[in-house]
Amino acid sequence: EDMAKLNTIERYKLALPTKNILLKDAASFKESFRKSLFDFFMKGSSGETFAETLRWLIFQEFDAPLDEYNLSTCPNCAAGNIPLGVKIKKTEFSYQCPHCKKEIYITDIFRLHEAIDDELGAGGVLGYVNVLIEQIIIVYLIKAILETKPAILSETLFIKDGPLAFFGQTANMQKPLRHLTTFLSEKHNLFLAGLEKSGPFVEHADEIGKKLKPGTILLLDNTYIYKYILPGKVDNTAPYARSSYYSGKMIFKSVDGKIYVVTIPTKNADVVLAPKKSDFHNLDAILTNIQKLRCDMYDNSLFPVALANKLVSLANHPS
Ligand SMILES: [Zn+2]
Repeated sequence: EDMAKLNTIERYKLALPTKNILLKDAASFKESFRKSLFDFFMKGSSGETFAETLRWLIFQEFDAPLDEYNLSTCPNCAAGNIPLGVKIKKTEFSYQCPHCKKEIYITDIFRLHEAIDDELGAGGVLGYVNVLIEQIIIVYLIKAILETKPAILSETLFIKDGPLAFFGQTANMQKPLRHLTTFLSEKHNLFLAGLEKSGPFVEHADEIGKKLKPGTILLLDNTYIYKYILPGKVDNTAPYARSSYYSGKMIFKSVDGKIYVVTIPTKNADVVLAPKKSDFHNLDAILTNIQKLRCDMYDNSLFPVALANKLVSLANHPS
């Protein structure tokens, strides 16, 4: 019955071409893909679009707004360092390339065009897109709360399935997210955590879990990560995940003995060199709530995350 209720909540549907498809008016597969993603951002839900959320995020409209956002390459002519902003504005959410004069969408800042091939398609970027959109939706909700009743931020815990990070071409998005989460932690409030269910960190956590005392929080630092979890040399001039995460990682063993790998936003990429509890905003409250939300449906998963996974699906053909 609860599932029936959940089935009525708002859902976002995105159909992206992965290969061999040309949209009307598009000259190439790459253009079809870019246009589909842009159209999804322009549709939005209940009034506000994701494009507005994205502009708010990358131009830091919540804080001291930026005039320009530097795009690494034009998706049309491949010219480098395009200063997106008022000077080359075409519409509210697109720009005109100063070199080829073609349109650049605000969603081109994800740089997916750099990894899409007209013949091989876009299969390789779909995972990145999924992770990206999950986090845009979190920003969308944060923006809505901030603009209506910021006090609700103190009563809301946002949980992302997977780490707080961006991957592949979209990794750059960690910068605006880092700026936003730092701003919220300092000026308002924020309870945000990522929870991992698979990968080397979870495997490591399962291995050492038995040895940890209930209630232990193990903040993972650079040396530990490269010594025990990931292959590679410890290099403190190149901290772990500096160009993809806006968060730091920890292993948490709850009082009832469950093991979690949690990420919580951090102010800068150097926190991982010598993390302290005070580097993670609301750490104790977040972990206490994770513990309370425990669900036995899947190993060490949380009630809301398990429910969301029942509702979310990734299909090869749109329904
Ligand atoms: Zn161009």
